[in-house]
Amino acid sequence: MKSDEYWALRALQREAESHDGTADMLKRLAVMYGDADKELVRMIDRIFQNFRKYTGISEKEARELMSVQETAELLAELRKEYEETGDAETLAKLNAPAYGYRISRLQAVRRAIEAELDKLAGQEEKAGSRQLVKAYDDSYYKTTYDALPEFPGAPVVPLSQNVISQAIQNPWKGENYSSRVWKNRSVLASEGGKVIDAGVTAGKSIQQMTAELSDLMNIGAYAAARLIRTEVNRMHNDAALQSYKAMGVKEYTYIATLDMRTCSVCGALDLKVFEVAEAKTGVNLPPMHPNDRCTIAPKIPGANDGGSRTARDPGTGRNYRVPEDMTYSEWRKSISEKYGADSLEMAQKKYWNRKADAAQLKDLKKVLGKDAPKDLAELQQWKYNEPEKWKRIKGFYAYKQKYPSAGIEHYDIYHELQTLGISKGIVLPPEKVSSYILEDTKAKDPAHIMKRMSERHITDDDVHSYVNKALVMFDQWKGARKLFCSSEGATVVTKQGDDWIAKTAMSKFDFDEDAEKILEVIRKYVK
Ligand SMILES: [Zn+2]
Repeated sequence: MKSDEYWALRALQREAESHDGTADMLKRLAVMYGDADKELVRMIDRIFQNFRKYTGISEKEARELMSVQETAELLAELRKEYEETGDAETLAKLNAPAYGYRISRLQAVRRAIEAELDKLAGQEEKAGSRQLVKAYDDSYYKTTYDALPEFPGAPVVPLSQNVISQAIQNPWKGENYSSRVWKNRSVLASEGGKVIDAGVTAGKSIQQMTAELSDLMNIGAYAAARLIRTEVNRMHNDAALQSYKAMGVKEYTYIATLDMRTCSVCGALDLKVFEVAEAKTGVNLPPMHPNDRCTIAPKIPGANDGGSRTARDPGTGRNYRVPEDMTYSEWRKSISEKYGADSLEMAQKKYWNRKADAAQLKDLKKVLGKDAPKDLAELQQWKYNEPEKWKRIKGFYAYKQKYPSAGIEHYDIYHELQTLGISKGIVLPPEKVSSYILEDTKAKDPAHIMKRMSERHITDDDVHSYVNKALVMFDQWKGARKLFCSSEGATVVTKQGDDWIAKTAMSKFDFDEDAEKILEVIRKYVK
């Protein structure tokens, strides 16, 4: 008599096999979506180029012409007007190729998208259905083979084609494989149409529009992969159940994986025993949700207990053994005890957010370059475990978007001065500014700079060298006034017409307490 552990292990292995069996299918799906994407780009390009050729106008003009959103309404109105009045001028407008063409071209693009996606969904459904038949067939016979020694003399019931096609067609949560494929296709078609309409309206280039369409196709490919994986899991468990029925197994055990990827819904069902006759997909039979990896094992009367099962340690990523009857909830508790109360939640959060976080990383890298977290692990470490570092990087990100020339040291200086209650403007790398020392005829005190220079014993060269050797520059008045800070002194310049004129200057010997503090902060970050 085999133990319950044996059945659980077997069931998990079988699930893994059927999961692995989809690898080729996933590759094929990726190729199909990639090909369709290329074909779309080619067709859209041709449609727009033809429009240009026909009308003899530039691409920009062509897009503008096609961009009048109300073209369709306008055309309908013109038609109505002409029917009512028979006005020759209206007829001429109506026949102007621009109107007709811009509508027909946009429609042509939409039709091209629809047709290509129809072709794609047809291919996907056909290849996917074949995969599902195979998964069902495999799972049924393998499950029977595993269990047969426990049921000597039980008839091996051959699987009829009917049972398989019925299983594939059965809906769960309201939809079956085919309807989900076509639903995804419709979403993709309508989103694709929106990309083109919005792109044309906003005057985007063909490359920009087709790039957005490619992003959409990537999302479509991901949805297709997730769908087939989920459906293969459904076939696997349906077929196992079917085999239990044929062999007279009355009960089954729900098995979730003991690792951080398992969700709370599946975790709560782990090791629960259900009657075969009461099994219902999405209720007590996996899949419970897309990408579910859960499985079931037959409950065989008289099976001995006392074995162990596999779990994965979220801290080390390694597999280890736990007592066979340890449920998911108990395992979770053991992990909290080992790594701290919210360790598993944290690991799960990182896992579930990994896609959004990867997208955020891409964005951060684009804006921050080498100052961005170096990889996803570092981003997640900062984001979830080191709030101070994360706050700094978010702050710098916002700063850098407003002031692209700033480095992280400029943000750090700005931020530290703010916390000291000192606000001298936006901290930036010093620009190369040549200024003049002139009387400012518009100022109340035109010779202010000269007076200051003589009071403070600074020369023209000093004034310029504070600018040229500045460690940082404070941008004030939206860039119209700049304070240059060097170790030797500071100079303020303002814009007058196209020129910069020096307003005031101060050597380090005249620095007040604030100026000292500012220089101290600057030197912390800029060498
Ligand atoms: Zn599950």
